[in-house]
Amino acid sequence: MKFTFIPELFRQLFSKPYTNLFPVKYAPVSIKETLEKVEKGEIKITPPVEIPDKETFRGKIQYDREKCIGCRLCIKVCPAKAIEFKEEEKKIRIYVGRCIFCGQCVEICPKNALSQGEEFLMADTNKVNENWIVE
Ligand code: SF4
Ligand code: SF4
Repeated sequence: MKFTFIPELFRQLFSKPYTNLFPVKYAPVSIKETLEKVEKGEIKITPPVEIPDKETFRGKIQYDREKCIGCRLCIKVCPAKAIEFKEEEKKIRIYVGRCIFCGQCVEICPKNALSQGEEFLMADTNKVNENWIVE
C-alpha cells in the first residue's frame, strides 16, 4: 500500500481552515435572537472569507446589455431556465433567484456580455427583491 496521501494529510492538519464561523462566532440558539443581538450591537457579524480566485469565482451573474446582440444562446443552455428574452428590446433578463451559478451562459455568450462577479451573499426573504433581477 502506498502512503502518498501522508504529506497532504499533514498539510491539511496544520493549515488554517478554509471557512470561518459565519455569520457570527458564537450564535445564540435562534436566528431571530442572533439578528436581534446584531441590531443591538451585542454581537458582530463575522466577515465572510476572502474569495480565493476572483477570475474563476462563480458569483452573481453580471450582464453588459450594450454588448448583447440578442442571440438567445444563453437562454438555450441555461439548465435552470433563469433567463428570459425581452422581445421588444432584443435583450435578456436574468432571474438570479433561479440561477444555479453553473456558468454555462457565460461560456456560450459569443459577445462576452455575461460574467460572474464576486457577490454571493444574496439570501433574502423577499422573492421580488430587485437585487435578484439582472437586465
Ligand atoms: S449561470 Fe447557469 S443557471 Fe445561472 S443564468 Fe447562467 S446558465 Fe442559467
Ligand atoms: S448569449 Fe450573450 S449575446 Fe446572446 S442573448 Fe445571451 S447575453 Fe446576449
